Amino acid sequence: MTQGEPLIIVVSGPGGVGKGTIVKALVERDPRLWLSRSWTTRDQRAGEADDAYVFADRAAFERRISAGGFLEWTEFLGNYYGTPNPDATTGRDVVLEIEVDGAQQVKALQPQAILIFVLPPSRDEQARRLRGRGDADHKVAERLQKAELEEPIGIELADHVVVNDDLERTIDEMLDIVHRCRSAGSPA
Ligand code: 5GP
Repeated sequence: MTQGEPLIIVVSGPGGVGKGTIVKALVERDPRLWLSRSWTTRDQRAGEADDAYVFADRAAFERRISAGGFLEWTEFLGNYYGTPNPDATTGRDVVLEIEVDGAQQVKALQPQAILIFVLPPSRDEQARRLRGRGDADHKVAERLQKAELEEPIGIELADHVVVNDDLERTIDEMLDIVHRCRSAGSPA
């Protein structure tokens, strides 16, 4: 990779680990970072921002798949999620907040992408966070089960594994990783 080429930073990890909060803080604190907005077919949660995703129906999502409009997409717990092809004109480093299947696709397409896998401090804490955002009990159970499957794959794939035990410390650690990768021009 040539120095100065925008980085692709993939933030992945199980549901309830705090990825959304982390990536929001990363782009607020580092103006060279640009957060990609995904498409999803899942319903908007109560209290979730309108711009958290592009909320689309399955037909619209499938039309975009056919048109080659996604860098990666997957079906996760019954809904489609996908990253639109990034706008190359921003010139900024791109942050993707996606699950493990999508992270594998991005790594295959763009081996220079930097994958940071975020782990919860414990399964209990993860469950507490999932319940805290209003997910129903069966959804919490489903996501915890999914986490068991995702974590070994994510850890294996990752360039960096970070435990989100303390939000501020985690954000600092991730900003430090981004700065080091910028200097090295690779997943240093
Ligand atoms: P949630 O429904 O909790 O917002 O997201 C479910 C999972 O889908 C999370 O792990 C989230 O990171 C992931 N996700 C969000 N956007 C995308 C995307 O564009 N592509 C992929 N592959 N996963 C995504």
